[in-house]
Amino acid sequence: MSSSQKDTRLKILIVEDESITALDISVELTQIGYEVCGMEDTASGAIAAVLENKPDLILMDIRLGDGGDGVEAAKQILRDHDLPIVFLTAHSDGQTLSRALDVSPYGYLVKPFRTQDLRVTIELAISKHSADKAKEQEKSQEALTDPLTGLGNRRCFDETLTREWLRSEREIQPMALIMVDIDHFKAFNDTYGHARGDECLHAVAEALKSCCNRPGDLVCRWGGEEFAVILTRTDLSGANKVGLALIEAVEALGITHSGSSTAPHVTISAGAASTAMGVESQNLLLKQADEALYKAKKSGRNRLILADSTGLD
Ligand code: GH3
Ligand code: MG
Ligand code: MG
Ligand code: MG
Repeated sequence: MSSSQKDTRLKILIVEDESITALDISVELTQIGYEVCGMEDTASGAIAAVLENKPDLILMDIRLGDGGDGVEAAKQILRDHDLPIVFLTAHSDGQTLSRALDVSPYGYLVKPFRTQDLRVTIELAISKHSADKAKEQEKSQEALTDPLTGLGNRRCFDETLTREWLRSEREIQPMALIMVDIDHFKAFNDTYGHARGDECLHAVAEALKSCCNRPGDLVCRWGGEEFAVILTRTDLSGANKVGLALIEAVEALGITHSGSSTAPHVTISAGAASTAMGVESQNLLLKQADEALYKAKKSGRNRLILADSTGLD
């Protein structure tokens, strides 16, 4: 293979203290089409090899050289790495195997085994592990998503705000925050019913999202009929532009709202703040945006108010 060609074969680490067995397995794996990225005979060697070679799967003998225990080694490896470990054992006693499968439920092979069993066990382990990972990812995505609007939820907002706050400090770049609240939304529910209220929330969410197209922008549902927009690498004048666009986009939906004393259609109020104003903490940024939103409500709704540095006291 030329050096410019990337080796896409799955990498397997063999941890086996009987060198003849290890060598046999290595030959078989290579023939099947895997890359053997290391052969170790002790627990400590295995742990070091995982760090260095980043295997996709480990074949782990249960009784290792120096009296080491493969199950313990696997446990230690899995604390820092997420990969399938298939155990190799000469003794298929139930207790040992169940201890092993508790640590890594991706199968085991009783020595001696046939090449075909080796191949099938590895294939199953790899596909089960990637399915497990996909499921896990889906679950953590769900935990961060508001089901009604499909936007990030409050938890997503909190996590993103903290992450982006730290990034903006590190990169010495401003970031901005816009808090948004639907005007007279209680009256909307009272007039049209909760189901139409939910549809309205969904439509507003889509309109807000359509204004935030830069990769660092994030619209979240803060809770109820309130939304929060995080704008990375954005100063107050940038937040002003986005905030005005949000208000325009919601007006443009033209959702009739006969119960509103502000307009004949659904409108929002917004408050924006930016770290470029020398705000010292993420909580203060939030407070400033919130206070600006409160002012937008008090001064007539359907508008954006920018926080100013004097608004802190
Ligand atoms: P303001 O203009 O001052 O913001 O008035 P408002 O009526 O929008 O504010 P208020 O906080 O009094 O009421 C918010 C309403 O939002 C209360 C509730 O009926 C509605 N709401 C909150 N969450 C949901 C939801 O998930 N679905 C629906 N349909 N309504 C919701
Ligand atoms: Mg052994
Ligand atoms: Mg509200
Ligand atoms: Mg409201």
